[in-house]
Amino acid sequence: MESVRFVAPHPEHLSKESLQDAITELAACITVATARLLDLIAELDRREAWGDWGVKSCAHWLNWQCGIGLGAAREKVRVARALAMLPLIREAFARGEVSYSKVRAMTRIADSDNEDYLLMIARHGTASHVEDLVRSFRRVRHNESAKVANEAHTMRELNWYWDDDGSLVIKARLPAECGALVLKALECAVDEIDDQQFNDNVSAETSLPEKPYAARRADALGNIAGDYLTSNTKPSRQAERYQVLVHVNREALKKMSGVDGAELQHGPGLCRDTARRIACDATIIELETDAQDNPLNIGRKSRTVPPSIRRALEHRDKGCRFPGCTNVRHLDAHHLQHWADGGETCVRNLVLLCRHHHRLIHEDGFKVTTRDDGKVLFFTPGDIWIPDVPALTAPGTNVESIAKDAGIDVSAETLTPKWQGERMDMGMAVEGLIQRGDL
Ligand SMILES: [Zn+2]
Ligand SMILES: [Zn+2]
Repeated sequence: MESVRFVAPHPEHLSKESLQDAITELAACITVATARLLDLIAELDRREAWGDWGVKSCAHWLNWQCGIGLGAAREKVRVARALAMLPLIREAFARGEVSYSKVRAMTRIADSDNEDYLLMIARHGTASHVEDLVRSFRRVRHNESAKVANEAHTMRELNWYWDDDGSLVIKARLPAECGALVLKALECAVDEIDDQQFNDNVSAETSLPEKPYAARRADALGNIAGDYLTSNTKPSRQAERYQVLVHVNREALKKMSGVDGAELQHGPGLCRDTARRIACDATIIELETDAQDNPLNIGRKSRTVPPSIRRALEHRDKGCRFPGCTNVRHLDAHHLQHWADGGETCVRNLVLLCRHHHRLIHEDGFKVTTRDDGKVLFFTPGDIWIPDVPALTAPGTNVESIAKDAGIDVSAETLTPKWQGERMDMGMAVEGLIQRGDL
């Protein structure tokens, strides 16, 4: 491919005026390019094309393929999704007229009723004005809802049932502060799943509860439950009550076996692949039974992966080995050749995987093998090798040409607000927004 070279004068050689013009013009170009980037991300997310690689979400794909930090990547996905339903803001963003900072803030509260109003403020004010307005608006809305909170308290409940497919379905109605606590715990647990420090910018109010995000919350709930049970030290006799037991027939664990002989204690049956995954790294109690399945002899408890091997494995792998994964907590030791098939429990035959990726290997057709030199290789269900970290390559594109190719005229004034330095009347601005919502 022939590369296009963009020769720009060295900043030292620019006058003060042209230096400022160069910065504002380039910022407008970057805004146009960012709008294009979010358009592309929205499409990738909509098609779930990132799923082909076994990464957990669109944000993880961005983290892996583009080197964007997870917090920033999640925020980009949130904004990209929100923009799909905000045509006016999207259009102004695509023309480089409102910056990404403003768009980010607006998408937290924008809907079809108020987007033109917000856009008017965004065009006239600075990014701080828009952020202040969004914050004030959310505070006012919150106070209004306090009146109904008391009624909500009396309506609280939590119900569950086992669905036909063996899933547990939970439905809960929680008072706001309790709900917020649950959401915060879920948010933290999702962050932990991604080995990402808590980041204020990460939005919990993603407007579209789509599959990947919701699925990660479900995983997070499982982790919260697991953490609660392990951190709550009960007297040992009681502790047994707080373990999740899976009954499984040894024969059923073998790869070629046709028996689906696994079930949760007091719960539904489990498919063989799931049972194999759970057994990969678990505490095993052998139970000898007679022909009628009555217990004859209960063996000693043993871990499939003894602590010493586990420590060596943690030292070697540090975290989940799946390409692009950043998880360092809630890890399973996966047997490359399952112990039920005669695989050895030694560091060579083990690899650390987070629960999500462990499930992909056992239940979703992804494969993992080792080469003779010990390198661990992962493959998609279609046998395509998944590279560890792809190199970022920038073909002959520059940000200026993105605006030009899109037929957008970008100048030093495109992005600058029409603000003349006057004070913003926040009360009036919030009132204006509220009125939009009441129309
Ligand atoms: Zn496994
Ligand atoms: Zn992983």
